[in-house]
Formats: sequence, C-alpha cells, structure tokens
Amino acid sequence: MDCLFCKIVNGEINSYKIYEDDVVFAFLDINPDSAGHTLIIPKKHYLDLDDIDLDTLTHIMKVAKMLKLRIEEKLNCDGLTLIQNNGLVQEVKHFHLHLKPFYKIKKDKTLEEVYNLLK
Ligand code: 5GP
Ligand code: ZN
Repeated sequence: MDCLFCKIVNGEINSYKIYEDDVVFAFLDINPDSAGHTLIIPKKHYLDLDDIDLDTLTHIMKVAKMLKLRIEEKLNCDGLTLIQNNGLVQEVKHFHLHLKPFYKIKKDKTLEEVYNLLK
C-alpha cells in the first residue's frame, strides 16, 4: 500500500520522532500550526475513527496524555487541542491524532529546535 504514514513508521520517510512503542509512533507535523504540533499514529494501518479498534484508540489516548504533559513542560504552551480528522477533511488516509499547542504569545521555533526540546 502506498501510504505516507506507513512509510514514516517503517523509516522509508524521515520524521522528527518524539515517541515510539510497540503500538504507536509520534512525530512532529511537517507543517506545524504551532511549535510542538505533533501527530500520534498507530503503527498498523487504520483509515479513520470507524476503522480503528478501541484497544488501539485507548492506547493512543494514553500516549496523548503523556505527550501533552511533556509538551506543556518543555515548550511552556498555554493550552493544547486534540484533533482527529475523518472523510473530506482528512488529508492523509492513515489514522492520526493531532496535538496542537496554543500560545498566548506566538513562539517561532524550527522543527529541529522543537525536536531537541521534546525528544
Ligand atoms: P489531516 O488533515 O489529514 O488531519 O492532517 C495531515 C497532517 O499531516 C497535516 O497537518 C500535514 O502537515 C501532515 N503531513 C503531511 N505530510 C507529512 C510528512 O511527510 N511528514 C510529516 N511529519 N507530516 C506530514
Ligand atoms: Zn498507512
């Protein structure tokens, strides 16, 4: 299958990985809405919220709780939004959960700078 995020999981495409375990892979969004914009994906290919099983979804949410704390601590954001797109609003057709930090005062950082703080 020609899937961008499967290629990121298996290392065919490089990414700024900030967390990995047996089930999930988390990396920085290449076109961040804010510093620390992160994507959590299952290693196994699932299309969307209908397709993914509850055990995997629960594990993704556990990792989201953990990474939320890490992002808050390392980047000092003032809020954080979780987003998961489906259907027409889903650009990449491999399930992913966005973690989008919010800053009262916008902080411009390169992906590499953010990666060095979060890894
Ligand atoms: P969606 O609209 O499908 O929920 O969001 C897909 C996200 O994947 C977008 O925020 C986009 O910037 C990100 N993205 C697309 N291609 C790549 C890539 O090659 N590498 C990384 N790290 N993120 C990507
Ligand atoms: Zn995939």
